[in-house]
Amino acid sequence: VFEPTASNNFLIGSSRAFVGFNTDVSIDVMRGLAKRAIRFFPVMKDLHVIRSYAGLRPYTADHFPIISDVEAVPGFYISAGHEGDGIGLAPISGKLMSQMVTGKKTEFDVKKLSFSRFQRNSVLK
Ligand SMILES: Cc1cc2nc3c(=O)[nH]c(=O)nc-3n(C[C@H](O)[C@H](O)[C@H](O)COP(=O)(O)OP(=O)(O)OC[C@H]3O[C@@H](n4cnc5c(N)ncnc54)[C@H](O)[C@@H]3O)c2cc1C
Repeated sequence: VFEPTASNNFLIGSSRAFVGFNTDVSIDVMRGLAKRAIRFFPVMKDLHVIRSYAGLRPYTADHFPIISDVEAVPGFYISAGHEGDGIGLAPISGKLMSQMVTGKKTEFDVKKLSFSRFQRNSVLK
């Protein structure tokens, strides 16, 4: 039985918008999320919103992450650009990165994820 009490906290989300680095919270979006939550769980209609936040989901031009060394800066590695999957992919990204940093053969071919695929416009070139 779902019975929220004053001591329960719920995380309700989320939305997706392409707004650059803007992390302002939109009241309209919050209203929509609340409406949707109440539709599924009407008992939530009397709960108070105590906190809101907006975060970034950094992505790359080809929507694949960068898990790579950087040829121009020896010893510098990048693991970034996982968009909305960074938490789920953290274990494998971390494993690949640790293999790379310690000079081992990576479990998968990571050429497709290399930083150099964007290097034509890179400031490092
Ligand atoms: C609302 C929301 C829901 C999400 N839900 C999921 C989900 O359910 N499952 C999932 O897998 N992923 C989810 N994601 C995506 C996931 O959070 C990201 O893919 C992941 O956090 C990216 O990890 P990261 O380490 O690359 O970047 P981040 O987590 O963004 O870390 C970058 C860090 O660098 C710091 N930083 C930035 N600039 C500087 C600077 N100049 N100097 C020093 N530090 C700096 C930042 O403060 C931050 O701590 C969600 C994202 C959002 C916003």
